[in-house]
Amino acid sequence: MLPLVYSRPADIRAALTAASAADAYFIGGGTNLLDLMKAGVEKAKTLVDVNHLGLDRIESTADGGVRIGAGVRNTDAANHTLIRTNYPLLSQAFLAGASAQLRNMATVGGNLMQRTRCDYFVDTAFEHCNKRKPGSGCAALEGFNKLHAILGASDRCVAVNPSDMSVALVALDAVVNVQGPEGERHIPIVEFHRLPGDHPEIDTTLKRGELITSVDLPKTTATRNANYLKVRERSSYAFALVSVAVALNVPDHRIDSARIALGGVAHKPWLAEKASAALTGKSKNDIDYAAVAALAVADAKPLSQNGYKIPLAKNAVERALRAAVEAA
Ligand code: SF4
Repeated sequence: MLPLVYSRPADIRAALTAASAADAYFIGGGTNLLDLMKAGVEKAKTLVDVNHLGLDRIESTADGGVRIGAGVRNTDAANHTLIRTNYPLLSQAFLAGASAQLRNMATVGGNLMQRTRCDYFVDTAFEHCNKRKPGSGCAALEGFNKLHAILGASDRCVAVNPSDMSVALVALDAVVNVQGPEGERHIPIVEFHRLPGDHPEIDTTLKRGELITSVDLPKTTATRNANYLKVRERSSYAFALVSVAVALNVPDHRIDSARIALGGVAHKPWLAEKASAALTGKSKNDIDYAAVAALAVADAKPLSQNGYKIPLAKNAVERALRAAVEAA
């Protein structure tokens, strides 16, 4: 058995101090971290429990948005009146993730920090995984890559981000608030997760010792005209082959602004910028759905086993967009 220090700080300052120890990890629900520790993928020497820092609240913000504490459980966020009423897209995404039991434990902060479920990453019997062991190669490039990325990958890693919640957060243009040894930062969600590039071992732009404290959702009118669609191999407890979050601001039959995000296709939740831009200014009756969907995957580069994701993503975008536009 490996020695492990468990720390239960009472406030954020104490948590940041505890996290300065070597190989320290923050732990919330532990639904991903503990699995990876048991598998020998993550090798924590100190666990800093962040469940008692007062980060479990959801509240309105002065500018008409909502702040979700990083320690809020996924189930509680999905069912909260402010989320269900103003951001039903996010509620849909929460409820599409994992199982009821996992959602009861998993926190919003932990959901943002989920690591890929690439088989070669989570099983240390496989030697070649740049994400787990930098410089060792990527077994998925020539191996089992049916579930892997079609957008934004590199020759070092073709893994995908597994979070449903994060895809909806990208469509809603959320901001991740963090505190660290150097103070507070406010990170736009599109800058929070990284593409793999030459360093697939780094998933996010968090700096060492920084703690996620909350997520801000800006005030939105993309309430009714929004939709989350997840396509998976079974109807529950499965990661997305492809998912789509659509958020449209449609004040008067004309789309003022649009954000389409995709999950299951890249190392980060993927903002489909060209497809989103193509919708701006369009009348609801004047949308070329197939053309918008094609734009969402125009830059896709399939691997040997995942070419099916391109038509799947196109069809999913078209379906989710229609549902968002036609919502009464
Ligand atoms: Fe590892 Fe990424 Fe390759 Fe999977 S895709 S084996 S996580 S380097």
